[in-house]
Amino acid sequence: MAQYDYLIVGSGLFGAAFAYLAHKKGKKCLVLDRRSHLGGNIYCEKIGGINVHKYGAHIFHTNNKDVWSFVNSIVEFNRYTNSPVVRYKDKMFNLPFNMNTFHEMWPDVYTPEDAQRRIEEQKAEALSKMKADGVSEPRNLEEQAKVLIGEDIYHALIEGYTEKQWGRKCTELPSFIIKRLPVRLVFDNNYFNAKYQGIPMGGYNELIEGLLKGVETKVGVNYLKDRTELNALADKVVYTGALDEYFDYNEGKLQYRTVRFQTETLDKPNFQGNAVINYGDSN
Ligand SMILES: Cc1cc2nc3c(=O)[nH]c(=O)nc-3n(C[C@H](O)[C@H](O)[C@H](O)COP(=O)(O)OP(=O)(O)OC[C@H]3O[C@@H](n4cnc5c(N)ncnc54)[C@H](O)[C@@H]3O)c2cc1C
Repeated sequence: MAQYDYLIVGSGLFGAAFAYLAHKKGKKCLVLDRRSHLGGNIYCEKIGGINVHKYGAHIFHTNNKDVWSFVNSIVEFNRYTNSPVVRYKDKMFNLPFNMNTFHEMWPDVYTPEDAQRRIEEQKAEALSKMKADGVSEPRNLEEQAKVLIGEDIYHALIEGYTEKQWGRKCTELPSFIIKRLPVRLVFDNNYFNAKYQGIPMGGYNELIEGLLKGVETKVGVNYLKDRTELNALADKVVYTGALDEYFDYNEGKLQYRTVRFQTETLDKPNFQGNAVINYGDSN
């Protein structure tokens, strides 16, 4: 009989939640992570009294009451509401696209009717330009976005941000990436439509510590390096890492979207006035 019921590779939200539930059912688990800490992408580093989300800002959101009750049974959450702002050239815009955004973009737009009319005009203009160029179906993300929302919004709120995220020109990205661009004809900057959202009061590390309480963990261990020996430790393996790596890149590398983090500590009480600002220019 193996030493553990489950060997869980990865101590992120999935691995930790799995370990918590298995442990509760009396299963013996070992959680491994190759990073030097637990928590995966939601890991926080305390810098100057602030819980810095080391791998990017994370806001927990769900429509599922059971999930919300579950996480709240482990740690208390604050009432943080994600409402990003875009800075493009000399202007600021609210996201997701809503009446605030439309008024900021077109100051003579005050009502949902005004906004709808302006969006339809912009869409028709983009469509006729495309037709004049002999294009019947959008061939790339740029053309797709323009026919869905028009040029003004595309340039300010989609183009630069998307190109930085994907590391490619919008004209080189496939159109299927954005089949729909939801617009809200209400003054509501709440990014997520989810019923429940927030961030643990003490940071995400407390959530992970709560989930892994009583579970054996090891950090700094790369499962894929000693797969055969590690597999022998448990009846079942739960792997939460990258799929292409798991299969030794047999089918090549998956084109993951990725981000590069640059950290700077500024001696200011408040740098940008909002936790999330999207810088919409191309550089
Ligand atoms: C910048 C950014 C912002 C995000 N913001 C949000 C948000 O606001 N709200 C939201 O709901 N979601 C957000 N997400 C998505 C969110 O991060 C993930 O859905 C969630 O954290 C994934 O949890 P996970 O356990 O599946 O994976 P991860 O957190 O990635 O954990 C996987 C773990 O497995 C480990 N691992 C991998 N391979 C091996 C190996 N060979 N051996 C040992 N260990 C290994 C890794 O080190 C890692 O710690 C964001 C993602 C990013 C990148």
